[in-house]
Parts: sequence; structure tokens; C-alpha cells
Amino acid sequence: MSRKLFIAGNWKMNKTASEAAEDVSKFIDLALGVAGKINIALCPPFTALDRVSLILENTGVELGAQNLSEVESGAYTGEVSAAMLRDLNVKYVIVGHSERRQYFGETDEVVSLKANRALQSGLLPIICIGETLEEREANKTFEVIQAQMKGSFAGISKEDMLKTTIAYEPIWAIGTGKTATPEQAQEVHAFIRKIISETYGAKTAAHVIIQYGGSVKAANSGELMAMPDIDGALVGGASLDPVGFAELIKNALQVATE
Ligand code: PEP
Repeated sequence: MSRKLFIAGNWKMNKTASEAAEDVSKFIDLALGVAGKINIALCPPFTALDRVSLILENTGVELGAQNLSEVESGAYTGEVSAAMLRDLNVKYVIVGHSERRQYFGETDEVVSLKANRALQSGLLPIICIGETLEEREANKTFEVIQAQMKGSFAGISKEDMLKTTIAYEPIWAIGTGKTATPEQAQEVHAFIRKIISETYGAKTAAHVIIQYGGSVKAANSGELMAMPDIDGALVGGASLDPVGFAELIKNALQVATE
């Protein structure tokens, strides 16, 4: 079964709306030729979504957000709802990024509420999971991944699972320059697909996109995408530079289609 590569750029808390608009325009010029062959999403901060949304119209590059509230609306100062994102033509939303889990106390339960809220509202969640260095060194990677999937994917139906992207992001590889080797990543991706197969069936498992995240750059995107269960990437630091991000995408696409 061939799955279309999906590469998303997570800009985290970087770029003002004006900076984002300028960089998105540059990126579009460079990436327009590949936008149909691969799914691409840019996830700027909330404050830049409106302006970036207008620039992305009819380009084939999709808009993503980095977070959403688990509740529908109301007196929740500072929160942003799924409906607000939908209104700006946001298609994807990152849920349960390790930085949200680590710095903002998001538990698997909160992650599952957010993922379900996204799905109910017509947004496509990118659910992040991954182990710490200590957990990997203690040979607990599979145990941790299994527990995170059980908790973070709670309540997601088979139909909704097909709309969900999983990002495997080993925490020790995020923003550290240390990438998992293609073999290390493939081993965990295959394990994730096996769990999806056991929970939702082999057909669903064969369709679900599993991205790798953790210091992906132009120099290693090809070798990672060459692995059978790696279907794309969630890219942090290397997505900030439009030239480098376009190159990363082209390298990934070239290897995946060889
Ligand atoms: C991320 O934050 O999702 C990420 C993978 O970051 P980086 O690419 O910078 O490691």
C-alpha cells in the first residue's frame, strides 16, 4: 500500500505574523512544483494563522495549528477553539507535542480530549508520541509508546483513525541535533503500526500516516523517508528557513519515489 508522504513544519513560538507572511511567500515560490506530489502543511503560531491562510489559498500547501482547546467555547481565557481554527481554513492541528506535555502539563487524557475535539470539529489531528532518553536507555521505549497510544488515542473510532496522523518524536531527538537512525525510527514506526493493526485492523493500519520527528533536516530527510513505515516528517527547527525546508521536502520526495 502506498501512502502519500506528509511533511509538516512546526514553527513553535517563532516568527511574528509579518515575518511568517514573508517566509511563507518565499517557501511557496520554492515548493510549488512539489505541492501536489506530497502533502505539505505549515503550522505557524496562532497569531500568524490568518495572514498565512490567505497566502496559502490555492497553493496546495495546507495550514496547521500547533494546539487547540479541548473544550468547545466559553470562559476559558487565552484558549483557542477548534471552530476558531476552522474559520481560518486550518486543516491540521498538532496535539500532544512533547513540549506541551512537558511544559504545560498535558496528560494523555488531555491529549485524547483535544484529538477528539479536533476530529468532531472537522480538523485533522497530528498526535505526537515519543519516549525520553531515560526511557530508551531503560529499554522502555515500546512500553511507553504503547501506553501513550492507549491513553492519547482513547475514544478515537476506526473512521477517525484514518483522519489522524501520528508523529513519532523521540524526545531526546527534538531540537538536539541528534536524529534517530533510520533503523531506530523504523523499528518504532513498525511497532506503532502493529498496535494500530491490533486495535483498528490491518486495513486501517496500512493507511495511517506515521511521521517521524526529531532533528530532521535536508541532509537526512531522504534516508528517513526511505524506510517502509516512515511516511513523512514533523519538522521543527529546519522548517523555519524557507530555502532549507523546501530542500528537505525535495530530498524526501526524491528518495521516496526512487
Ligand atoms: C518538533 O518540535 O516537532 C521537532 C521535531 O523539532 P526539531 O525538528 O527541531 O527537532
